[in-house]
Amino acid sequence: QAAVITVDGPGGAGKGTVSMLLAKYLGWQLLDSGALYRLVGLAAEHHGVAFDNEASLAVLAEHLDVQFKVSKDELVQVILEGEDVSKELRTERVGGLASQVAALPGVRSALLARQRAFAEGSGLVCDGRDMGTVVFPDAPLKIYLTASAEERARRRLEQLRSKGIAASLSDLKKDILERDARDMNRETAPLRPAEDAVEVDTTSLSITEVVDLILAEAKS
Ligand code: C5P
Repeated sequence: QAAVITVDGPGGAGKGTVSMLLAKYLGWQLLDSGALYRLVGLAAEHHGVAFDNEASLAVLAEHLDVQFKVSKDELVQVILEGEDVSKELRTERVGGLASQVAALPGVRSALLARQRAFAEGSGLVCDGRDMGTVVFPDAPLKIYLTASAEERARRRLEQLRSKGIAASLSDLKKDILERDARDMNRETAPLRPAEDAVEVDTTSLSITEVVDLILAEAKS
Protein backbone atom coordinates (compact mmCIF):
# COMPACT_ATOMS: atom_id res chain seq x y z
CA GLN A 1 0.00 0.00 0.00
CA ALA A 2 1.40 3.38 -1.07
CA ALA A 3 1.64 6.28 1.39
CA VAL A 4 -1.37 8.58 1.05
CA ILE A 5 -1.98 12.24 1.89
CA THR A 6 -5.61 13.28 1.55
CA VAL A 7 -6.54 16.92 0.87
CA ASP A 8 -10.25 17.65 1.26
CA GLY A 9 -12.34 20.79 1.56
CA PRO A 10 -14.81 23.03 -0.26
CA GLY A 11 -14.22 24.43 -3.75
CA GLY A 12 -11.65 27.19 -4.14
CA ALA A 13 -9.83 26.47 -0.87
CA GLY A 14 -6.64 25.74 -2.82
CA LYS A 15 -6.80 21.92 -2.82
CA GLY A 16 -5.98 21.51 -6.52
CA THR A 17 -2.87 23.69 -6.64
CA VAL A 18 -1.60 22.56 -3.24
CA SER A 19 -2.07 18.86 -4.09
CA MET A 20 -0.33 19.27 -7.44
CA LEU A 21 2.69 20.97 -5.82
CA LEU A 22 2.86 18.39 -3.02
CA ALA A 23 2.77 15.50 -5.51
CA LYS A 24 5.45 17.14 -7.61
CA TYR A 25 7.70 17.81 -4.60
CA LEU A 26 7.30 14.29 -3.21
CA GLY A 27 7.41 12.60 -6.63
CA TRP A 28 4.06 10.93 -5.89
CA GLN A 29 0.95 10.22 -7.96
CA LEU A 30 -1.85 12.77 -7.99
CA LEU A 31 -5.58 12.05 -7.93
CA ASP A 32 -7.94 14.92 -8.80
CA SER A 33 -11.14 13.15 -7.78
CA GLY A 34 -13.31 16.18 -8.61
CA ALA A 35 -12.32 15.74 -12.27
CA LEU A 36 -13.94 12.27 -12.23
CA TYR A 37 -17.26 13.68 -10.97
CA ARG A 38 -17.01 16.52 -13.48
CA LEU A 39 -16.43 13.95 -16.26
CA VAL A 40 -19.48 11.94 -15.23
CA GLY A 41 -21.57 15.14 -15.31
CA LEU A 42 -20.28 16.05 -18.75
CA ALA A 43 -20.70 12.51 -20.12
CA ALA A 44 -24.28 12.46 -18.82
CA GLU A 45 -24.98 15.67 -20.69
CA HIS A 46 -23.37 14.36 -23.90
CA HIS A 47 -25.44 11.18 -23.76
CA GLY A 48 -28.64 12.92 -22.71
CA VAL A 49 -28.90 10.91 -19.49
CA ALA A 50 -31.25 12.54 -16.96
CA PHE A 51 -29.57 13.75 -13.77
CA ASP A 52 -31.96 11.75 -11.59
CA ASN A 53 -31.41 8.47 -13.47
CA GLU A 54 -29.09 6.98 -10.86
CA ALA A 55 -28.74 3.52 -12.43
CA SER A 56 -27.69 4.87 -15.86
CA LEU A 57 -25.38 7.47 -14.32
CA ALA A 58 -23.68 4.74 -12.28
CA VAL A 59 -23.11 2.70 -15.45
CA LEU A 60 -21.68 5.80 -17.14
CA ALA A 61 -19.33 6.37 -14.16
CA GLU A 62 -18.21 2.73 -14.17
CA HIS A 63 -17.34 2.80 -17.88
CA LEU A 64 -16.03 6.36 -18.19
CA ASP A 65 -13.85 6.48 -21.33
CA VAL A 66 -11.22 9.00 -20.30
CA GLN A 67 -7.54 9.61 -20.94
CA PHE A 68 -5.26 12.00 -19.09
CA LYS A 69 -2.47 13.18 -21.38
CA VAL A 70 0.45 15.19 -20.05
CA SER A 71 1.52 17.71 -22.68
CA LYS A 72 4.96 19.29 -23.10
CA ASP A 73 4.18 22.24 -20.82
CA GLU A 74 3.10 19.77 -18.09
CA LEU A 75 -0.54 20.70 -18.46
CA VAL A 76 -2.87 17.75 -18.23
CA GLN A 77 -5.15 17.29 -21.21
CA VAL A 78 -8.37 15.48 -20.43
CA ILE A 79 -9.83 13.46 -23.29
CA LEU A 80 -13.40 12.25 -22.84
CA GLU A 81 -14.59 9.80 -25.48
CA GLY A 82 -11.94 11.13 -27.87
CA GLU A 83 -12.77 14.79 -27.30
CA ASP A 84 -10.50 17.29 -25.50
CA VAL A 85 -12.66 18.63 -22.65
CA SER A 86 -9.82 20.14 -20.54
CA LYS A 87 -11.14 23.67 -20.66
CA GLU A 88 -14.85 22.96 -20.35
CA LEU A 89 -14.19 20.63 -17.41
CA ARG A 90 -13.00 23.51 -15.20
CA THR A 91 -16.04 25.76 -15.66
CA GLU A 92 -18.45 26.39 -12.74
CA ARG A 93 -21.23 25.07 -14.97
CA VAL A 94 -19.61 21.64 -15.10
CA GLY A 95 -18.79 21.94 -11.37
CA GLY A 96 -22.53 22.25 -10.83
CA LEU A 97 -23.23 19.14 -12.94
CA ALA A 98 -20.55 17.30 -10.96
CA SER A 99 -22.11 18.12 -7.61
CA GLN A 100 -25.48 16.85 -8.87
CA VAL A 101 -24.17 13.44 -9.94
CA ALA A 102 -21.94 13.34 -6.84
CA ALA A 103 -25.02 13.30 -4.61
CA LEU A 104 -25.98 9.84 -5.95
CA PRO A 105 -24.62 6.86 -3.96
CA GLY A 106 -24.58 4.66 -7.10
CA VAL A 107 -22.24 7.08 -8.86
CA ARG A 108 -19.97 7.41 -5.82
CA SER A 109 -19.55 3.67 -5.40
CA ALA A 110 -18.95 3.20 -9.15
CA LEU A 111 -15.96 5.57 -8.85
CA LEU A 112 -14.54 4.04 -5.68
CA ALA A 113 -12.31 1.33 -7.20
CA ARG A 114 -11.05 3.69 -9.90
CA GLN A 115 -9.94 6.16 -7.23
CA ARG A 116 -8.30 3.56 -4.96
CA ALA A 117 -6.32 2.23 -7.94
CA PHE A 118 -4.32 5.49 -7.94
CA ALA A 119 -2.63 4.44 -4.67
CA GLU A 120 0.32 2.66 -6.23
CA GLY A 121 4.06 3.31 -6.38
CA SER A 122 5.69 5.33 -3.64
CA GLY A 123 2.75 7.50 -2.73
CA LEU A 124 -0.39 9.39 -3.60
CA VAL A 125 -1.68 12.89 -2.94
CA CYS A 126 -5.43 13.04 -3.51
CA ASP A 127 -7.72 16.01 -3.66
CA GLY A 128 -11.48 15.93 -3.15
CA ARG A 129 -14.34 16.00 -0.65
CA ASP A 130 -14.29 12.50 0.86
CA MET A 131 -10.70 11.34 0.36
CA GLY A 132 -10.06 11.16 4.12
CA THR A 133 -13.54 10.10 5.19
CA VAL A 134 -14.47 7.43 2.60
CA VAL A 135 -11.92 6.64 -0.10
CA PHE A 136 -8.72 6.46 2.01
CA PRO A 137 -9.94 6.28 5.63
CA ASP A 138 -6.58 4.81 6.77
CA ALA A 139 -4.40 7.56 5.28
CA PRO A 140 -1.77 8.59 7.84
CA LEU A 141 -2.05 12.29 6.98
CA LYS A 142 -5.38 14.00 6.27
CA ILE A 143 -5.65 17.69 5.53
CA TYR A 144 -8.87 19.74 5.42
CA LEU A 145 -8.46 23.10 3.68
CA THR A 146 -10.95 25.93 4.10
CA ALA A 147 -11.10 29.65 3.22
CA SER A 148 -13.79 32.34 3.33
CA ALA A 149 -16.35 32.19 0.50
CA GLU A 150 -15.23 35.65 -0.66
CA GLU A 151 -11.62 34.54 -0.99
CA ARG A 152 -12.56 31.26 -2.67
CA ALA A 153 -14.63 33.10 -5.30
CA ARG A 154 -11.73 35.49 -5.90
CA ARG A 155 -9.33 32.56 -6.42
CA ARG A 156 -11.73 30.79 -8.79
CA LEU A 157 -12.05 33.98 -10.82
CA GLU A 158 -8.27 34.29 -11.14
CA GLN A 159 -7.92 30.63 -12.07
CA LEU A 160 -10.61 30.85 -14.75
CA ARG A 161 -9.19 34.10 -16.14
CA SER A 162 -5.75 32.53 -16.47
CA LYS A 163 -7.39 29.88 -18.66
CA GLY A 164 -9.17 32.50 -20.76
CA ILE A 165 -12.59 31.70 -19.27
CA ALA A 166 -14.74 34.75 -18.44
CA ALA A 167 -16.77 34.86 -15.21
CA SER A 168 -18.12 37.38 -12.69
CA LEU A 169 -17.14 37.45 -9.00
CA SER A 170 -20.70 37.69 -7.69
CA ASP A 171 -21.88 34.79 -9.89
CA LEU A 172 -18.93 32.69 -8.76
CA LYS A 173 -19.63 33.38 -5.08
CA LYS A 174 -23.26 32.39 -5.55
CA ASP A 175 -22.27 29.18 -7.39
CA ILE A 176 -19.69 28.33 -4.73
CA LEU A 177 -22.17 28.76 -1.85
CA GLU A 178 -24.79 26.72 -3.70
CA ARG A 179 -22.29 23.93 -4.35
CA ASP A 180 -21.06 24.01 -0.70
CA ALA A 181 -24.63 23.61 0.51
CA ARG A 182 -25.27 20.67 -1.83
CA ASP A 183 -21.96 18.97 -0.94
CA MET A 184 -22.41 19.44 2.82
CA ASN A 185 -26.07 18.44 2.99
CA ARG A 186 -26.12 15.31 0.82
CA GLU A 187 -26.72 12.00 2.58
CA THR A 188 -23.84 10.02 1.07
CA ALA A 189 -20.31 11.17 1.90
CA PRO A 190 -21.25 14.74 2.88
CA LEU A 191 -18.40 17.23 2.85
CA ARG A 192 -16.89 17.37 6.33
CA PRO A 193 -13.42 17.00 7.83
CA ALA A 194 -12.35 13.48 8.87
CA GLU A 195 -12.10 13.18 12.67
CA ASP A 196 -8.33 12.90 12.45
CA ALA A 197 -7.86 15.64 9.81
CA VAL A 198 -5.60 18.66 10.30
CA GLU A 199 -7.74 21.71 9.47
CA VAL A 200 -6.05 24.65 7.77
CA ASP A 201 -7.77 27.98 7.07
CA THR A 202 -5.98 29.26 3.96
CA THR A 203 -7.82 32.62 3.69
CA SER A 204 -4.71 34.67 4.41
CA LEU A 205 -2.03 32.11 3.54
CA SER A 206 -0.06 31.88 0.31
CA ILE A 207 0.11 28.61 -1.65
CA THR A 208 3.75 28.16 -0.56
CA GLU A 209 2.83 28.65 3.09
CA VAL A 210 0.13 25.99 2.85
CA VAL A 211 2.43 23.52 1.07
CA ASP A 212 5.22 24.08 3.65
CA LEU A 213 2.77 23.60 6.48
CA ILE A 214 1.59 20.26 5.07
CA LEU A 215 5.14 19.06 4.41
CA ALA A 216 5.99 19.92 8.03
CA GLU A 217 2.98 17.83 9.17
CA ALA A 218 4.12 14.97 6.92
CA LYS A 219 7.56 14.95 8.55
CA SER A 220 6.27 15.14 12.15
O1 C5P B 1 -13.15 19.72 -6.69
P1 C5P B 1 -14.09 20.00 -7.84
O2 C5P B 1 -14.58 21.41 -7.86
O3 C5P B 1 -13.51 19.59 -9.15
O4 C5P B 1 -15.35 19.05 -7.57
C1 C5P B 1 -16.53 19.15 -8.31
C2 C5P B 1 -17.69 18.53 -7.53
O5 C5P B 1 -17.51 17.12 -7.49
C3 C5P B 1 -17.81 18.94 -6.07
O6 C5P B 1 -18.59 20.10 -5.89
C4 C5P B 1 -18.45 17.73 -5.41
O7 C5P B 1 -19.84 17.77 -5.53
C5 C5P B 1 -17.96 16.58 -6.24
N1 C5P B 1 -16.89 15.83 -5.60
C6 C5P B 1 -17.24 14.90 -4.67
N2 C5P B 1 -16.29 14.12 -4.08
C7 C5P B 1 -14.99 14.27 -4.41
C8 C5P B 1 -14.60 15.26 -5.35
C9 C5P B 1 -15.58 16.03 -5.93
O8 C5P B 1 -18.41 14.75 -4.33
N3 C5P B 1 -14.08 13.48 -3.85
